Amino acid sequence: MARQCKICGLDEDKRDFIDGLIINGLGFKEIETRAKSQGIDVSHMSIKRHLDSGHVQGTIKRDNDAGDTDTFIEIPDIADTQDLKEFAEQELLKITANQLAILRTKQELYMQGKARYPSSEVAGLKNIMQSLTMLTGKSGDIFDLAATKK
Ligand SMILES: [Zn+2]
Repeated sequence: MARQCKICGLDEDKRDFIDGLIINGLGFKEIETRAKSQGIDVSHMSIKRHLDSGHVQGTIKRDNDAGDTDTFIEIPDIADTQDLKEFAEQELLKITANQLAILRTKQELYMQGKARYPSSEVAGLKNIMQSLTMLTGKSGDIFDLAATKK
C-alpha cells in the first residue's frame, strides 16, 4: 500500500536541491514554491513525507535566534481520501505516542500520591483510538496500524 517517495524518485540534482532547502530549515510550502520555479513539480505534502520518513541526510537548521516565534502549522495538501487517510494515520500515530507519554507521566505521579488518577488522560487516549478507527477505516488497533507502516 505504501507509495514510493516522490522526492526520492526525482533526479539526483533535483533531490539535492530540495534536500538543501529542507536542511536550511525552509517551510514545506516555501520549498514547494521554490521547486516549482525550478520546474520541479512536487507538493509540500510529498516534501514533508520525505522528511518524516527519514530520507534527508544532515542536520536541519532551526533558527531559534531569528526571533520568529510564530507557530507555523503546515496545511496538508489533501488530494483525495487516500491522502487524507495517510495523513490521519501519520499524525494520529504521533498523537497517540504523545498521549501515552502524558498518561504515563500522570500515572506515575498518581502512583506516588502526588496527583489524582489521570481519568481525563485515559479518556483522551480512548478518543484518539476512536479517531484512528473513524479516520483511517482501520480497526483502531494501534499495533495493527503501526505494523502497516513498514
Ligand atoms: Zn524520500
